[in-house]
Amino acid sequence: MSVERTFSIIKPDAVAAGQAGEILAMIQKAGFKVLGLRMTRLTETQAQGFYAVHKERPFFEGLVKFMTEGPIIVMALEREDAVKGLREVMGATNPANAAEGTIRKRFAANIERNCIHGSDAPETAAQELAFFFSTADLL
Ligand code: UDP
Ligand code: MG
Repeated sequence: MSVERTFSIIKPDAVAAGQAGEILAMIQKAGFKVLGLRMTRLTETQAQGFYAVHKERPFFEGLVKFMTEGPIIVMALEREDAVKGLREVMGATNPANAAEGTIRKRFAANIERNCIHGSDAPETAAQELAFFFSTADLL
């Protein structure tokens, strides 16, 4: 294991519901250092680009609509084994399968509106961080 960076989004459902603070607290309690954090709103083109890997999936259109419906909070995070560690704190994509104590178990409504994004591998983390942050901005 080594110190690693990952990327996360507090999705529009959680921002609108006022859950961002509690989600961030859970992330910080899990030992993550916040290197960058910003509220923004995705355009349709940005959401399509960010989730391009899913563009052939049946849920793609709904996902783009969801991710553009309101403000999001994007975060650059650092920790030992950050990518895998964040996925553990998030819980399963479908909150029905998420473990007790995870962010999705606590806050996600369903498999689509599931409150948080986290990179799935170090390579995607690097791409996703670069999508939203310039290296010079990360403290
Ligand atoms: N998603 C959906 N329906 C599905 C699977 C995924 O709406 O059947 C949405 C959900 O918001 C999910 C995102 O698409 O978080 C990306 O899917 P992925 O399989 O990458 O899940 P994640 O990495 O977010 O756990
Ligand atoms: Mg994913």
